[in-house]
Amino acid sequence: MSACERAAVAVELSLVVPMFDEAQGLDAFMTRVTGVLDATGMDYEIVCVNDGSRDDTLARLREHRRRDARVKVVNLSRNFGQEPALCAGLALCRGRAVVPIDADLQDPPELIPQLIEKWREGFDVVYAVRRSRAGEGVLKRATSSVFWRIHNALIAVSIPANTGIFRLMSRRAVDALNALPEKQRFMKTLMSFAGFPAAEVAFERAPRTAGATKWPWGKMWTAALDGITAFSTLPLRVWSYVGLAVSVSAFAYAVFLVVSKLAYGGQVPGYASLMVVVLFLGGVQLITLGVLGEYLGRIFHEVKARPTYIIESTEGLDESVD
Ligand code: UDP
Ligand code: MG
Repeated sequence: MSACERAAVAVELSLVVPMFDEAQGLDAFMTRVTGVLDATGMDYEIVCVNDGSRDDTLARLREHRRRDARVKVVNLSRNFGQEPALCAGLALCRGRAVVPIDADLQDPPELIPQLIEKWREGFDVVYAVRRSRAGEGVLKRATSSVFWRIHNALIAVSIPANTGIFRLMSRRAVDALNALPEKQRFMKTLMSFAGFPAAEVAFERAPRTAGATKWPWGKMWTAALDGITAFSTLPLRVWSYVGLAVSVSAFAYAVFLVVSKLAYGGQVPGYASLMVVVLFLGGVQLITLGVLGEYLGRIFHEVKARPTYIIESTEGLDESVD
């Protein structure tokens, strides 16, 4: 399909919804979303990406599609994760404005008209910024805040604090994102990589309506490392400076040893200080190797260039687009 044909079938607004085991809350989600979208009077589509759900999310989605053709389905071949699922939806949606949103109603669809308003004022990216994060533990909030502080200090792409994937993106912002060649995609930062004029709208984040979070701590830690290593090489470079500092101190210490030897003659060498130096340097070297390994592993995965996701089937969408 050419870009021109694609424009001809474009809708005004696309919602992109990654779904993994969301059957329980699906009806509530559809009811609330269609209620809000119908009221805007816009021509829209809801692109639901079934990310290898083990429950009957797919069957339920098909039911919804039978009733309302504006519900489109992308069925991935297995569970790839929220970010690949989101990528699949973003690649296939056709809206002039695109809103990625979670299926658990933690992001209130009622905010969408405000996002659209800002888009119509000319902004390409309209962030939905969480004012509160009900239903999330103190620890999750604290770790998240520490992560974003480190992220923003290290990385030039600036992202407002407390944003998730929920936002509105113009067609050109989505096209720019889809054109990025990398396979491993840390979406929150990548979605902001292209830049373009951005605005913010604040909202209260609700607790999940049904089911449980699919982000256990281990996965969050990996995602945090992915987020930093995908955009910053500072963790690699910092070791040159650590090495320099250690060498300079070692040289100073050597000078001190020679001078004190000449001045005071032989001394019994200290076992404790020797151990401290050996262990300290061993530790620094292992950390350096570990950091190298983190990057090397990611280069290894990127070089293989395996697809970010594999689509098993789609309904209501043209797969040949990208
Ligand atoms: N999700 C997905 N694949 C996964 C994990 C999650 O498509 O492997 C979807 C999930 O169905 C939901 C969204 O991503 O629509 C956010 O997931 P979740 O609510 O578990 O994350 P949290 O809100 O706790 O960050
Ligand atoms: Mg959630």
